[in-house]
Amino acid sequence: MTQPTSSIKTTATARPVRTRIAPSPTGFPHVGTAYIALFNLAFAKANGGEFILRIEDTDQVRSTEQSEQMILDALRWVGLDWAEGPDVGGPHAPYRQSERADIYKEHAQQLLDNDHAFRCFCTAEELDIMRSEQMARGETPRYDGRYADLPREESDKMAADGKPFVIRMRVPKEGVCKVEDMLRGTVEIPWEQVDMQVLLKTDGLPTYHLANVVDDHLMQISHVMRGEEWLNSAPKHQLLYEYFGWEMPILCHMPLLRNPDKSKLSKRKNPTSITYYRDAGVLPEALLNYLGRMGYSMPNDAEKFTLDEMIASFDIQRVSLGGPIFDIEKLNWLNSEWLRALTPEQLKNKILDWANNSDKLTAMAAAIQPRIELLSDAVNWGGFYFQNLPQISAEDFNHKTLSAEQIMEILQLTAWQLEALPEWKEEDIYKVVKGMSAALDIKMRDFIAPFFIAIAGSTSSTPVMNSMWIIGADMTLNRLRHAIEVLGGLGKKKLKKLEKTAADLPDLLATDSE
Ligand code: GLU
Repeated sequence: MTQPTSSIKTTATARPVRTRIAPSPTGFPHVGTAYIALFNLAFAKANGGEFILRIEDTDQVRSTEQSEQMILDALRWVGLDWAEGPDVGGPHAPYRQSERADIYKEHAQQLLDNDHAFRCFCTAEELDIMRSEQMARGETPRYDGRYADLPREESDKMAADGKPFVIRMRVPKEGVCKVEDMLRGTVEIPWEQVDMQVLLKTDGLPTYHLANVVDDHLMQISHVMRGEEWLNSAPKHQLLYEYFGWEMPILCHMPLLRNPDKSKLSKRKNPTSITYYRDAGVLPEALLNYLGRMGYSMPNDAEKFTLDEMIASFDIQRVSLGGPIFDIEKLNWLNSEWLRALTPEQLKNKILDWANNSDKLTAMAAAIQPRIELLSDAVNWGGFYFQNLPQISAEDFNHKTLSAEQIMEILQLTAWQLEALPEWKEEDIYKVVKGMSAALDIKMRDFIAPFFIAIAGSTSSTPVMNSMWIIGADMTLNRLRHAIEVLGGLGKKKLKKLEKTAADLPDLLATDSE
């Protein structure tokens, strides 16, 4: 195989600017997605270009329609709009990768025919053994290339005989790949760190890498602006562009958003879903404004600015690479600035719009209906559904059998279980809570009391698992976290110990709750 040149034509960009956001619909709409979308949109608009949206649902197991809908709704809510996408169509439709399988197959075949890729017939067991042997030798596990040199006739014959295979790309064994990044300059990654990536899986569907490159090319994307976590994939992508003989889009890897303790922003420590911020009462303009300040500053150093103002003076070189801290208190402060700039009339309308969440109101109405005599009772019974954090103190948790320590452990272990739920379904919340009470051998009556305080601020309230479902995943986790803090908090050592307990818990979703 000839050594790829690893140089890209970053300067040859007279083509129109087209950027994209390419979310995978595998969970709640993440603020990081809105962040990357914002910079893609601002860059495109500032350069007279277009911003489009593509759904990357090649992971058939984890992708859900519900997640796709939530992501589209959340991005629209925050004020971002795309010129082309699965919901609005466009000249490069379909914009959902699951509807483009044939396109990727053809392209994988082309790579195979040009000997840039090969069929690999390894079984899952074979790969497992390869992995464990490499680990036993103290090596980083990777595909060892055992089918790379199989003669084509043999490979064709095995495929014709129906032996399952994946298609992997060839990569150089040595040398260094040089990738150009708008913010980082030339990034050097040794080829030995790059694996012979699977491009097409046994089921004939593509992996992210193949689908992403093929689509960016076919959708005429000029600039790929995405999270830093994809930088290590850039050599593979660059090589694929070379194999296909296509001009590569210009790359720009944005810094990752971080928790105040500098770790990668994760729902373990902070709410990460856009819907949480909407429900807590952040204005979409303020959230977008805050995201626009992540690693970025306006030329006049303004703190409060609109999307249009950001676009008008946008310069990607003003992005700084230190990990920007997503700090809720700063966001709340900025939101308060936005709120105070409204007239009382405008503020009234904002409050009405915010509360007028029909599904949530109906669910709340169903929960309080057996308990109220007057409509005005809804304020007492239903207020907590709309709050951010309830007003609670450590004494509220006083319990006849459980110590504060035990309560914190219960809340933490349950929070971890809830956090891992792929979808926020009422029946799964029940399974987790009941399963935890059984696993920890604490009577449900005793077990559930602290949850009432954490979620509703009182033990006399509507059914608490139903309340968790109504207020949503991030809001639930945030209140559980808050309760633990109010109770004094769990230190690092205790958390370590609890992690061990958590690892020994049975699969709670698998257990049938009576
Ligand atoms: N589907 C990828 C994601 O979820 C897109 C990454 C990219 O922009 O290339 O982040």
